[in-house]
Amino acid sequence: MLDLDKRSVTYLAGVGPKKAEILRKEANISSYEDLLYYFPYKYIDRSRFYKVVEIRGNMPYIQLKGRFLSFETLGEGRTRRMIGRFTDGTGIIDLVWFRGLAYVKEKYSIGKEYIVFGKPTEFGQTYNIPHPDIDPIENQDQVTGGLTPYYPTTEKMKKSFLNSRAIQNYQYALLKSLEWRVQETLTPEILRKAGMVSLTEAIRQIHFPESAEKLQKAQLRLKFDELFYIQLNILRTASFRKTKLQGLVFPVVGNYFNTFYKDYLPFELTNAQKRVMREIRKDMGSGRQMNRLLQGDVGSGKTLVALLCMLLAADNNYQACIMAPTEILANQHYATIMNFLQGMDIKVALLTGSTKKKVRNELLLAIASGEIKIVIGTHALIEDAVMFHSLGLAIIDEQHRFGVEQRSRLWKKNRQVPHVLVMTATPIPRTLAMTLYGDLDVSVIDELPPGRKPVQTLHRYDNKKAELFDFLRKEIKAGRQVYVVYPLIEGSEKVDYKNLEEGFEVFKDVFPEYTVCMVHGKMKAADKDAEMQKFITGEAQILMATTVIEVGVNVPNATVMVIESAERFGLSQLHQLRGRVGRGSDQSYCVLVSSYKLSNETRKRLEIMVNSNNGFDIAEADLRLRGHGDLDGTRQSGTGIDLKIANLGADGQILQYARNIAQEVLDADPDLSSGQNRVLKERVEKLFARKINWGLIS
Ligand code: ADP
Ligand code: MG
Repeated sequence: MLDLDKRSVTYLAGVGPKKAEILRKEANISSYEDLLYYFPYKYIDRSRFYKVVEIRGNMPYIQLKGRFLSFETLGEGRTRRMIGRFTDGTGIIDLVWFRGLAYVKEKYSIGKEYIVFGKPTEFGQTYNIPHPDIDPIENQDQVTGGLTPYYPTTEKMKKSFLNSRAIQNYQYALLKSLEWRVQETLTPEILRKAGMVSLTEAIRQIHFPESAEKLQKAQLRLKFDELFYIQLNILRTASFRKTKLQGLVFPVVGNYFNTFYKDYLPFELTNAQKRVMREIRKDMGSGRQMNRLLQGDVGSGKTLVALLCMLLAADNNYQACIMAPTEILANQHYATIMNFLQGMDIKVALLTGSTKKKVRNELLLAIASGEIKIVIGTHALIEDAVMFHSLGLAIIDEQHRFGVEQRSRLWKKNRQVPHVLVMTATPIPRTLAMTLYGDLDVSVIDELPPGRKPVQTLHRYDNKKAELFDFLRKEIKAGRQVYVVYPLIEGSEKVDYKNLEEGFEVFKDVFPEYTVCMVHGKMKAADKDAEMQKFITGEAQILMATTVIEVGVNVPNATVMVIESAERFGLSQLHQLRGRVGRGSDQSYCVLVSSYKLSNETRKRLEIMVNSNNGFDIAEADLRLRGHGDLDGTRQSGTGIDLKIANLGADGQILQYARNIAQEVLDADPDLSSGQNRVLKERVEKLFARKINWGLIS
């Protein structure tokens, strides 16, 4: 059969070099296979007309037939909009435009019959349809029909006539040239066991669905396929590591650990910390290489666990390092750890991009000689110049920011594979963890140090500011401090900074008796530090900021976190911000300020924040509401998952099922060496060819 991933799309009629280039750049399509796996993101059933009375929450795109009653322009500035009141005799619905208002009024007339096509959005008790497609009734035959696929396209693609319709035409031409057949990727046994349709059928139905039912079966098959191969790869890697890789053995609990534990540690470990230490010690004594994910909410005490592990490494004559994603975090880890170790006889170094050359050269020597036991740094640690004498433990403070490839470079610079502990403060939902870290063992710190009161979260509308100010004044009078945070969204920085600066003026006006300070990303580092310092020392009572305070600040006396335009933040980000308060023993508060007009989904998001303090529940909800691609930073960070069809938020069950079947296959045939499993082996190696090396570490 034709090797689909080696055949360029330029072989298709109508795809010249220019279009091929745009397809590659904009949609990542180069080969026949890329094209076949470029799936529609939605299907629209244009065979049926809905009635206005039938409209419910959560509907897909629908079409209506009816007439306009009136047009009206409302609002000012950003909220300026045109409302067209539309009826089909069963009810009235508002059609809304935020752009092209003049054009709308010109183009459509009251009383004439139209076909309206769009997605109803719920607002409290009513619905409207923003920016619908509208056709005059005369076009009915042309625009209505069966299930129509819609392919993702970009502006650049559309400009070169690569719209959804064009993509569909290419799919047709390609499938026709293949006589509507593609090579199967699963074994007959798996197909039977899992009850899946063939790949040929699935590819055909995904692009040219004959019915909703057949489409669903095709989607299920393709999701299963995608998740199955991810799991097969992960489980194969994990089993390889468990059976073939030798781990360093740390049998000794020695002087460093014991001295610290008995004489320096200022408090008892929590039960969760003790349990996690036992799990880690067991790994380190097992003769297998540890690959463990340590999850724990902000402030749960992961840094201390990391330190204890590093002392164990030192007791066994190995070095240890922590790699943090940013310089601020590396500095903070260093400060925390030096504080814990004050007076102890052990050499610790900080190595980041801003370490001066002279100091740096000295450090490099001391790291290479083994004199320095603990190194804390950023990705500066993985530069070639850094040679460890005997790295036994690599701790990676991850927060979704390191790519797996980067992690493995730490390992390559060593004769032996160190133990690896990945720490994450952003709770990762189970399905995502299974996909990103499915080959790691997991430890969870599910308990905060004693004496912390859970933060109380409130939701307030921004037209009720006076009450909020009263509340803040009361807290400040009692000696507390307040954070006020504004969103900073890419693409609207200008407006966002303006909002912050205006807010700053308002707060100075409202609180003339107190000191208000402000920090944001555009300030010079020195100014930022100075403002920050005012807040840390208590000279300022109110700190106003963009999200720069998300990481790194620890002011236990701050008890109130006010989040402006809370509706514009993601749930996980809100949770991280909330973690900035509640660090002392006083009752703390998080106030989510939003506009009054909220979509139901946004309202739900804010409700989740008010009702839950549990980072895991929140991350799960976030994943459900937004899909994994939007989880803070996940996409950019190169986590290595680029799912074409499966959705980790919605397809948890399929994922688990695919994992079980992958495990069964490997249990029976660990090396995939049997004749019938050859197809699996070839495909997994092809799909993960580039990743196989770094797959070894985590
Ligand atoms: P994380 O890294 O998980 O965000 P940290 O290790 O920074 O958490 O700990 C947060 C704070 O709690 C620190 O000030 C730390 O000293 C303190 N802490 C950690 N463990 C305990 C404990 N068992 N008892 C009391 N305080 C603790
Ligand atoms: Mg920490």
